[in-house]
Amino acid sequence: MSRPEPTRENPLEKLIPLTSALASARSGEEVARRAVEVLGTTGFGRACVYRMGPGTTLAEPVAWPEGGSPPPALDLRAGGPEAEAVMARRTVRERRHQGGWRLHVPAQSHDRAVGLVSADAADPDGMEPAARVAADCVALAFENELLHDANEARVRQLLALQRVGREMSSTLDLDRLLRMVANEAVGLTAADAGAVYLRDPGGDHLVLAAWAGRRPARDEVEVGYGIPGWVARQGRPLRVADRGRADAPYAERRNHLAVPLLSEGETLGVLALESRGTAPFTSTHEEILAIFAAQAAKAIEATQFFRQIREERDLRDAILSVTPNGVVALDPQRRVVLMNPAARRLLDVRETPEGNPMERYLGRPEFLEALRRVMAGDSPLEQLQIDLGTGPALRNLLVSLVPMGEGSPRGATVIVQDFTERRRLDERMQRMARLASIGQLAAGIAHEIRNPLTGMAISLDVLAEEGGLSEGGRSLVADMHAEIDRLEALIRGLLDFARPQPVEARPMRMAKALEWHRTFEKQCGRKGVVFFLDLGPNPKIEGDPEKLKQLFLNLAINALEVTPGGGEIRVRVSSAEDGWVRVVVEDTGPGMDPETLAHAFDPFFTTKNEGTGLGLSIAHSIVEQHGGRIDVESEPGRGTRFTVELPAHGGPAGRAELRPFIAPATK
Ligand code: ADP
Ligand code: MG
Repeated sequence: MSRPEPTRENPLEKLIPLTSALASARSGEEVARRAVEVLGTTGFGRACVYRMGPGTTLAEPVAWPEGGSPPPALDLRAGGPEAEAVMARRTVRERRHQGGWRLHVPAQSHDRAVGLVSADAADPDGMEPAARVAADCVALAFENELLHDANEARVRQLLALQRVGREMSSTLDLDRLLRMVANEAVGLTAADAGAVYLRDPGGDHLVLAAWAGRRPARDEVEVGYGIPGWVARQGRPLRVADRGRADAPYAERRNHLAVPLLSEGETLGVLALESRGTAPFTSTHEEILAIFAAQAAKAIEATQFFRQIREERDLRDAILSVTPNGVVALDPQRRVVLMNPAARRLLDVRETPEGNPMERYLGRPEFLEALRRVMAGDSPLEQLQIDLGTGPALRNLLVSLVPMGEGSPRGATVIVQDFTERRRLDERMQRMARLASIGQLAAGIAHEIRNPLTGMAISLDVLAEEGGLSEGGRSLVADMHAEIDRLEALIRGLLDFARPQPVEARPMRMAKALEWHRTFEKQCGRKGVVFFLDLGPNPKIEGDPEKLKQLFLNLAINALEVTPGGGEIRVRVSSAEDGWVRVVVEDTGPGMDPETLAHAFDPFFTTKNEGTGLGLSIAHSIVEQHGGRIDVESEPGRGTRFTVELPAHGGPAGRAELRPFIAPATK
């Protein structure tokens, strides 16, 4: 094999393919191989290219003449011309004992040797420039590759960040989110373990909230102490590389990187990472983790906020579902945003009202007018009474309207309170008080009338016995006797009401109080009225049979007096679980107008020519004496219903307000 002639032409021209390879090559290795090839054609002998390893002591061969075996790796600590070229970063000429030279040219980038080109050269002076160019190309290629790798790693990290950011913002489950943050932080920085600490509400402790890899020893850290504590106090990242003792096994070294979780300048917590071994965290890790921590802090804050809102909403829902008051929220277009169960019940809403116009559930003009004022901002509060339904379904509602939000029109909150029971109770109380005072007056008068009446009756008897009366006179005396009897009956009734005989209550069946029903049914039949009796379970009560007979008969007779032929009268007995026995007496008669309804129980109130107006007063007093209650519902044209409630045998539970407050009459 003949040694190549030193070439006269410029050897650098031969290197042009190498520079173009630089542009198209996919790796540093490829350029190194081209360099070996090109140097071969440029008059050099055996050439090879080394690349510096990650440490500083070893250079690995990456290219050598095709077909040959790779040269051994260079140990720079062993010295020699190669080591000298790399360490001193200059070209070293080595004289070969078999003749000629070998050039060792460092491939340098930024004052650092990244590789080495070694090639045999017959004429070192003439050929050194070409070797230098080749080394520069190799250096560039190696550097490019590093940059490319770094770039790729960076892009991968950024993509990972983006993905994690998306994932984080898609969960509203705080625990899941925190675990995700710990895991992803470990993944992004190739750490071994990671932990998320959150500041406790007091702010002077960090509480372990999630971890990945290995559970930290302590669940709580004081702000200011340890690595997470320092980061929380300073509000900036901390990177600690464990250099360890020289002889400590690598696995025992611990490197740390911790960044604060900052949101709008406030430290929510700390993200702390740990890696074991010799590779400490780099500034790139820190940078990536800082970006990640900012994203994580935002997501954590949003999730905490969401959780708080959800807790508040749950609380609100719980309150709204148990309050007896109806609550309806309306948007500015009067559409229902929310309606609680009480409001649905009071307004008799049987569908899902949300989204529908409020008019559909409460369309009274006065209500809509009040709503308009509140929504227009003309009024801070409106209240109105609205009666809904009729008869037993009648509800007295107090409706309050308050504005909600700003602007015009604005939304409104409607609060519906049910005063039906209250009003009934009030009416009953008033009635009882009225009856008590009228009763006393009536008793006094009855007494005063009774004596002269007795006197009149005796005088009439005397007159009749004396004889000498004409036929007409006798008939007049008889008429007067009849009238006196009527007056006496009236007074008896009056006294019954005003000074009732004490009740003699004992256990009895309801049927006993309704014994009169057969005779009554016949009377009904004569008038063409149908009578129904439903004794139900015929419950046992505590009562005075005679008084109760009178009570129900009074109600039944009243019904019969007004019910026309073809009508119906019903008496129904039922036993409620709350310890009360209920008796309903209803008819299909003409009903009562509000005025009559209001006074029906007053003594002497009557709408009948022949009436005494005492039937209901007495009924009322009997019920009171039994500790029960009586109510009436009636409307013109819709019949009348009396409801009597009496304590069952064994006594009712609760309802203290219904216990008799009239002292039992004494003899
Ligand atoms: P009286 O029957 O003597 O008129 P009550 O005290 O029994 O006296 O009744 C008072 C009034 O109440 C009656 O005059 C009548 O106007 C009204 N009333 C009572 N029961 C009924 C009924 N079932 N239907 C219509 N009105 C009734
Ligand atoms: Mg009557």
